Amino acid sequence: MSPTLSQHEALRYIRAKVDQLLTVMGTLPLRAEELDDDTLIALDPIGIIAESFRQVITHLNETNDRLDVTQKEIRAILDTLGAAVVVLDIEDRVEDCNSRASEWFFGGADRTQVAGRLASEVCTCAEALVGVRADADGTPHSLSLHGRDVQVVASRIFNDAGHHTKTVILFTDITQQKDKERHLKLYAEVFRHVGEGILITDADNRIIEINDAITRITGYPRDELIGNTPGSFKSGLHEKSFYEDLWRTLREQGYWQGEIFDRTHAGQIIPLLQSISEVRDAEGVLTHHIAVMTDISSLKETQTRLDFLAHHDVLTELPNRLLFSDRLHHAIERARRDQHPVALLFIDLDRFKNINDSLGHHVGDLLLIEAANRLKGLVRRADTVARLGGDEFVVLLESTASHATAALLAEKIVMAFKQPFTVSGLDLHIGCSIGTTLFPDDGDDAGTLLKNADAAMYRAKETGRDGHVHYSAELSVAMTDKMELDNALRTAVRENSFELYYQPIIDITRGRVVACEALIRWPGGPATARTPDRFIPVAEETRLIVPLGEWILREALERLCAWRDAGLGLDYVSVNISAVQLAQPNFIDRVIALLNETHVAGSELQIELTENVLMGDIELCAWVLAQLREHGIRVAIDDFGTGYSSLSYLKQLPIDNLKIDRSFVRDIPGDPNDCAIATAVIGLAKTLGLDAIAEGIETTEQQAYLAQIGCDKVQGYLHARPMPAANFETFARNF
Ligand code: C2E
Ligand code: MG
Ligand code: MG
Repeated sequence: MSPTLSQHEALRYIRAKVDQLLTVMGTLPLRAEELDDDTLIALDPIGIIAESFRQVITHLNETNDRLDVTQKEIRAILDTLGAAVVVLDIEDRVEDCNSRASEWFFGGADRTQVAGRLASEVCTCAEALVGVRADADGTPHSLSLHGRDVQVVASRIFNDAGHHTKTVILFTDITQQKDKERHLKLYAEVFRHVGEGILITDADNRIIEINDAITRITGYPRDELIGNTPGSFKSGLHEKSFYEDLWRTLREQGYWQGEIFDRTHAGQIIPLLQSISEVRDAEGVLTHHIAVMTDISSLKETQTRLDFLAHHDVLTELPNRLLFSDRLHHAIERARRDQHPVALLFIDLDRFKNINDSLGHHVGDLLLIEAANRLKGLVRRADTVARLGGDEFVVLLESTASHATAALLAEKIVMAFKQPFTVSGLDLHIGCSIGTTLFPDDGDDAGTLLKNADAAMYRAKETGRDGHVHYSAELSVAMTDKMELDNALRTAVRENSFELYYQPIIDITRGRVVACEALIRWPGGPATARTPDRFIPVAEETRLIVPLGEWILREALERLCAWRDAGLGLDYVSVNISAVQLAQPNFIDRVIALLNETHVAGSELQIELTENVLMGDIELCAWVLAQLREHGIRVAIDDFGTGYSSLSYLKQLPIDNLKIDRSFVRDIPGDPNDCAIATAVIGLAKTLGLDAIAEGIETTEQQAYLAQIGCDKVQGYLHARPMPAANFETFARNF
């Protein structure tokens, strides 16, 4: 306390005393206020003032001491504060600060070192200080200081005269608090947006909070749930004991997880994966439950569907190979134990490939579904019908299985499949071939039984389709033959033991050999498979046709070139191309390379494709043919009339030539149907601006008729059989 202040206080006290005195004496005409201090002291006639003054001083000293102590206490308090306190005067001089402030703002210098100095001189971040002082109004502000979140409150201090004399600024580090807030905000966001439903109940299991997902999953609006118990969700599908177990586990372990069926607001049952946790306070008293639930309906559906798919064929929904072999294994086990036979029918659709290739996979698929349904309708419930893949089906007969019952069922199926299938408005004739086997006679295990049934089915196919064959040991020999044929073909490709024959294509109006078709021969081939009809399908199956086909092309082109050099001019050589070759990604490149190597122009080559090849992958074909056309290569449709080609497609494909199949030529002119077909095809060719060649002309009558209906190009035994190159040359020169 300043001495003037204490004296002033003392004088005020004395003045009061004197007033009392004067009142008592009533002698002086003056009031104490009117006396100045010196007069007052001098006027102490009876020593009252001096005494009073002494008392006052003593009193003041005591007060001073007390204030000192208080001030020290205040300082200690200020220094232990987590906050920084700075007092600035109105000129921004530091008047006081606590230890936290010296640490934050004054580089550790204590208040005695900074007191009286301008903040801008001593403070490491004076702008913050001064800035805050400028708008000190006692309201808290947040700011970032040294990378921390700080809350600032600045208050102005006024003297008795109401003048602003200083500003006290309080900085509190609220980084942790802010972090907590941020976390809380984050948790709230998670709570709101998480896919799982979260539901919080109080200790009495009343719902106090839910997130949006709960509403999405259960369909309950928020206000129908808050305050209620989760009992509204009960589906009624669980026993009482289920919930009792749930609560017991929850009480014992503080946590429960499991699958539960609940009922939605709309009354629909949904499977949920749910976990419930207890929340307890520091004293261990239960305060809340938190339930997290995931809708697993789609997961369940997927699981069921996956289970089904793993064992069933997607298209027909029949058991697949996996499930079938499982059933077959069990059937054999039972049969072995109970000593009864088991029969197996291996069914393959006839001409399915044609339909698939020509009418497209969609029609093929629908047909397979129809076939599966027809099959299912023919067997008893106890029997298993399965689809092994492609157009292969199997039937497993367990009870009453015998040669006779298997044959009977096979016959029934063959007859049923002779009836056309109506698919996409089309009547499709397919038929089927069946091989049958019996356990234990034709195989002791599932694998052998199935393999032998397959072999029997092949035999059924070979001996004219639409039939059934029971397995016999000789059939295994036939299978072995096929493998041997494949081996022999491979050796033949390697050793180059094929030969190309050429059959002339004759323009009857000009009486000239205008071109030739190259046809492969295998002189050293096995007697049963020497003709291309027999070995080409095997080569296609094993893709050996790719190297073989390349050899054929090269050979034919080289031959054409040699003939040309020798003065034998032909318009083109026609080469048969299989679907497997056409589907090779480098097919076009290979053809072009071969043309270049053999110095043959594109227009001197014609490739022959059957309708089914063309319709197989119409887009691919259209593209390939367009590429070929760009190089001038001619394209002919071989065996025209035997497939399922669509005229509208034909029109879109760059085709030069239709080769009328031999089967329509054979009975000309006797058969009016064939005559009509031949006439129509030739008319069609003319309309589409195509050439037409009649294949398989054997008689002059056939030729005469064809000439009459406008077909001027022919090929057939009437003129020449396919022959070796040298013979062809002679033939063509002398024609
Ligand atoms: P394709 O392309 O329709 O060939 C015509 C077939 O009819 C040839 O049989 C030919 O010898 C035969 N032929 C020709 N004129 C007459 C006739 O007047 N009467 C009778 N009965 N038949 C006649 P080949 O050479 O046995 O060929 C059969 C099939 O094998 C060919 O039918 C073709 O699809 C395929 N093929 C032949 N050579 C090749 C080849 O180099 N590559 C490919 N991918 N397939 C070939
Ligand atoms: Mg041909
Ligand atoms: Mg042909």
